[in-house]
Amino acid sequence: MKAMILKGYGGLEQFEMQDVPDPSPKEGEVLVRIRANGVCFHDILARQGHFPRTKTPGIIGHEIAGEVAGLGRGVTDFKIGERVVVVMKDHCGHCRLCLKGHDNLCQNTGGLFGEEIPGGYAEYISVRTHAVVRIPDGVSFEQAAVVPCALGTAYHGLHAVGRVQPGEAVLITGATGGVGIHAVQVARMLGARVIAVTTSAGKTDFLRDNGADDIIVSPELDFADEARRITGGHGVDVVFNIVGQLAWNAALKSMGFAARHVFVGNLNAAPVNLRPAHAILKEMFFLGTEGVSRGEVETLLELVRLGRLRSVVGGTLHLADACRAHASMESRSSVGRLVLIP
Ligand SMILES: [Zn+2]
Ligand SMILES: [Zn+2]
Repeated sequence: MKAMILKGYGGLEQFEMQDVPDPSPKEGEVLVRIRANGVCFHDILARQGHFPRTKTPGIIGHEIAGEVAGLGRGVTDFKIGERVVVVMKDHCGHCRLCLKGHDNLCQNTGGLFGEEIPGGYAEYISVRTHAVVRIPDGVSFEQAAVVPCALGTAYHGLHAVGRVQPGEAVLITGATGGVGIHAVQVARMLGARVIAVTTSAGKTDFLRDNGADDIIVSPELDFADEARRITGGHGVDVVFNIVGQLAWNAALKSMGFAARHVFVGNLNAAPVNLRPAHAILKEMFFLGTEGVSRGEVETLLELVRLGRLRSVVGGTLHLADACRAHASMESRSSVGRLVLIP
């Protein structure tokens, strides 16, 4: 098969299209012919060498949709030709965490696809059946590929972790990014008042179209006064912080009593300062969110089919143009997820 191999950590020159042996499905695995693979900002950081688990030479990518093209021994619940999406992480399906529905946290696993194990920048991938979910009719491969990571991270973080309630004020940092724009939609669907924070004034229509009620353009990420003004001085109920430490001070000042702060990402990997008294007196919650469960991916595919949520696909490119997709994301000129088609 053809695969876009990441030869080592570095710039775009590290990508090379190569012919490599087709994977063959082992017992309990299905071979998936990849029809779409979303390009995540994680992929850019992986290419640059920020995640030491990323195997080189190797195949990155964890936003994979395609059709079943082969069955390993013992696989009876899938048929050749079925359309499936691969959840972001491999998991075992039988450990304590998997059985409780926390399969996103399974440690008995090969990890994130495209890290230590092969990923989606290729024509085929072989995965355990726990890691694939059927795509309903009416949802395209491109739409499905975006569901587990971009929509899934937003949904798990806001619904399962942040426990957003109707009428609450939810502030989202990094709102125009891949997870951010889907978080705007999810928060809206959950009945929240959505306050979207962006550093660039040019993307306000995009935010409005996806369901933002209020938009704060703040290149310096000093949005707290505006967030408090919008909420009549009460502060927000939930901060969905995709940016991390760079937005921490303003996020903390934006939070009201009994508010929840959900850490989703941390772009500069720096630690944050917190005075315990601040958390105690306002009875605040500080939470972290990691990925999405298999069951949530099933729910989300149905919500996309019903039109309650929309996968924001910004464009499709051939797998051979992976460099162009990375360049476009690095310069922040793309809006919505770019999807590679092998
Ligand atoms: Zn991703
Ligand atoms: Zn497990």
